[in-house]
Amino acid sequence: QTIRLADYTVPSYLVDNVDLHFDLDASTTQVTSILNMRRNPKGPGEDCVLNGEHLQLVSIKLDGRLLTAAEFQRSNTQLILPQLPEKFQLEIVTEIHPDQNTALEGLYHSGTLVCTQCEAEGFRRITYYPDRPDVMAVFTVTITADKQQWPILLSNGNLQEQGELEDGRHWVRWHDPHPKPCYLFALVAGDLYMQQDSFTTISGRDVTLQIYVDKENHDKCDHALMSLKQSMRWDEEAYGREYDLDVFMIVAVNDFNMGAMENKGLNIFNAACVLASPQTATDNDFYTIQSIVGHEYFHNWSGNRVTCRDWFQLSLKEGFTVMRDQSFSADLNSAAVQRIDDVDQLRSLQFAEDAGPMAHPVRPDSYIEISNFYTVTIYEKGAEVVRMIKTLLGDEGFRKGTDLYFDRHDGQAVTTDDFVKAMEEANHYDLTQFKRWYTQAGTPVITAFYNYDAIKKIFTLTLQQSCPATPGQTEKQPFLIPVAMGLLDSAGNSLPLQLIDEAQPYDKDTRVLELNESEQTFRFIGVEQKPIVSLLRGFSAPVKLLIERDNEELAFLMANEKDSFNRWDAGQSLFIQIMLSLIADYQQNTALQLPEILVKQCAAVLQDKAADPALVARMLTLPSENYLAAQMKVADVDAIHHVRKFVKDSLAMQLKAQFDALYQQHNLPNVAYQFNSEHMGRRSLKNVCLGYLMATNDPMQTQRCLKQMKQADNMTDTLAGLRLMVDQAGIEREHALRAFYEQWQHDRQVVDKWLTVQALSSLPDTLIRIKGLMKHPAFSIKNPNNVRALIGQFCRNNPALFHAKDGSGYRFLAEQILVLDKLNPQVASRQLGAFNSWRRYDEKRQQMMREALQSIAQQQDLSSDVYEIVNKYLAD
Ligand code: ZN
Repeated sequence: QTIRLADYTVPSYLVDNVDLHFDLDASTTQVTSILNMRRNPKGPGEDCVLNGEHLQLVSIKLDGRLLTAAEFQRSNTQLILPQLPEKFQLEIVTEIHPDQNTALEGLYHSGTLVCTQCEAEGFRRITYYPDRPDVMAVFTVTITADKQQWPILLSNGNLQEQGELEDGRHWVRWHDPHPKPCYLFALVAGDLYMQQDSFTTISGRDVTLQIYVDKENHDKCDHALMSLKQSMRWDEEAYGREYDLDVFMIVAVNDFNMGAMENKGLNIFNAACVLASPQTATDNDFYTIQSIVGHEYFHNWSGNRVTCRDWFQLSLKEGFTVMRDQSFSADLNSAAVQRIDDVDQLRSLQFAEDAGPMAHPVRPDSYIEISNFYTVTIYEKGAEVVRMIKTLLGDEGFRKGTDLYFDRHDGQAVTTDDFVKAMEEANHYDLTQFKRWYTQAGTPVITAFYNYDAIKKIFTLTLQQSCPATPGQTEKQPFLIPVAMGLLDSAGNSLPLQLIDEAQPYDKDTRVLELNESEQTFRFIGVEQKPIVSLLRGFSAPVKLLIERDNEELAFLMANEKDSFNRWDAGQSLFIQIMLSLIADYQQNTALQLPEILVKQCAAVLQDKAADPALVARMLTLPSENYLAAQMKVADVDAIHHVRKFVKDSLAMQLKAQFDALYQQHNLPNVAYQFNSEHMGRRSLKNVCLGYLMATNDPMQTQRCLKQMKQADNMTDTLAGLRLMVDQAGIEREHALRAFYEQWQHDRQVVDKWLTVQALSSLPDTLIRIKGLMKHPAFSIKNPNNVRALIGQFCRNNPALFHAKDGSGYRFLAEQILVLDKLNPQVASRQLGAFNSWRRYDEKRQQMMREALQSIAQQQDLSSDVYEIVNKYLAD
């Protein structure tokens, strides 16, 4: 059943406040909900419809009177109450079974604790309620539970009262004064360790901060707590937003469908996104935790205080909040590295989504299952769209816009149009055309042509834009695209950017062109020599840029461009250009030869003493096999794998001495672990060098790798070593894997890493090993992190083996999806994403992937999650 934006109507009834009573029990929990409701004067005047799924109804009272079955209608998904007064009180009693809930939506069990996940539509698995974000109510929650089993009972807002009961049970009452949609409701009951701290807000309000984790993880809370304080300070400084309750709580949960959830005052996190110690978490983990803690905290304003009117507006909160967490990370760490990593992820994942059967606009028009729309388009492309607004309005103008947005809409459920309107009105700037970024799917393509008139000293730049058709959208209107650009002379100095007929002198090194037609020409005057043009500095728009450049010009930009993002990007383009031409050679059985220029450029990068090690590490990282595949008309899995390995091995052989020197320079076995940009950068560069050194097949390097694993005081270096060992067949490999597991088997996060390194191995028996690991005590198919670590990593990040010629990878995934769909539809449907680009492979592989997809589509009783994706894949 398709839900359409065009069908939106305001709710017929509103909830002023709700009183929830939970009588907790793992097998049967009784929920009593007292709703004070009234007719919405602006509503369409329809019956009162409450959502409810997987619920056992015990009783309904209207203003104290028990209703008979004839007085309401009930289906598997709804409770309809006709003929209600203007204002009334409903008391609904339901029963639910948290221990049978493997979907991890609503109230469920995870280990010994009980917790909730309500976004988007999980609250309807707890009680009957108008489960839509534009119904906002004040919640009071009372929880009664066995005191020994669940000494800690949490919900949203401030703790109001608590007490003991006679039968070994106790109770607590929480009150959240801020009206909220039910998707922000949360409850946690458990026997947990708590680490506490405090934060004083800018206006002097004291806030208690608490992190709740399994007892054995008591030593892994510091980093998340620090990140939380950093987030609270940052939102005050960057956006003028203060926290608004007496307490802010984070709970770590082992079984969780996503990364984390911004429930008001009670964020619930996937344990992997909270817990960190140097011994068990990598630099990447530390970095991700900081950004996710920030993301969920920032939702308190962008999402909770101002929420979404309906789920088509999801990017209103997600795109904006991702953009906020990206700038938070950029401010606290290296802005250049942050931008490179964000764009790298956008181009490898979101561009693929935008080019495939699930392509949808940042504000979709329709969906079958909303859980399928928590996508890289809504999140990452949505963040780019907000970032472009900031680029167009400038930092100050953008801040004026967000101030107006938060002030005007505080306590409301609004749309992306409302957001854009606040931006427009605060700046007197027309964003009408810009709004096409919200409604048109697909990645725009900019083609650049240029010409230099040496006599008149005029440089002419012509930009054309187009956007490929996407499902349901054949014709596209031109976008308003901010193109940040600069001109360089042959020594790498900036040239003036004065446009012809421009009255004001222009004296900056970068200027933002506003491309808003399908073709536009820009003339720059006073350009004394033939320039090299640098386009899309900082990746100023989420587009593909086509510009003809030879290897020499790319090498020039790689060495001389001012913008660090574009310097990295020129290097990536050089790698891609060379690899694509080697792939063509390979396909024609021509002997492969690595162009001298690439070796020369990499040597220069390796020898640049002034460069930031983190940037050097990224400059030396080859584009992934998946990203290369996306650059080909027909992705040739084997050629890509072969050529990428050839390039890596050749660079390793020819630059071995340089890699060796740099490894030694940045390997500091006697310096204790620190999480900061400098140390992270040095570790990442050292480990990139080790990767190249291992590609030389020199047994000395294997010894070095083992030594690094043994000496390291941190998981970053240990895991980097293990990852490399796992690609080399032999007894040392098996030994390293076994020793690692023996040391870390008690730690779920580390065990997931152990599963992942094996899933990513390039050795031919990898899939057989994976099947074996699925029977290992370390793995449970009911645990989403296990599934993602083993099955997800293999299918997404081991393309050479997932796309094995015999179709074994495809059949494996199809089988797992059918098993998962019965247990956890959200996880099942996510895993299907590995088939997203199936039409881009050769005939034989397409045929096998089609069969795998059909084997899923044929099943009876598919979840709406899997049903929607599999049918969209097959239809396109
Ligand atoms: Zn979010």
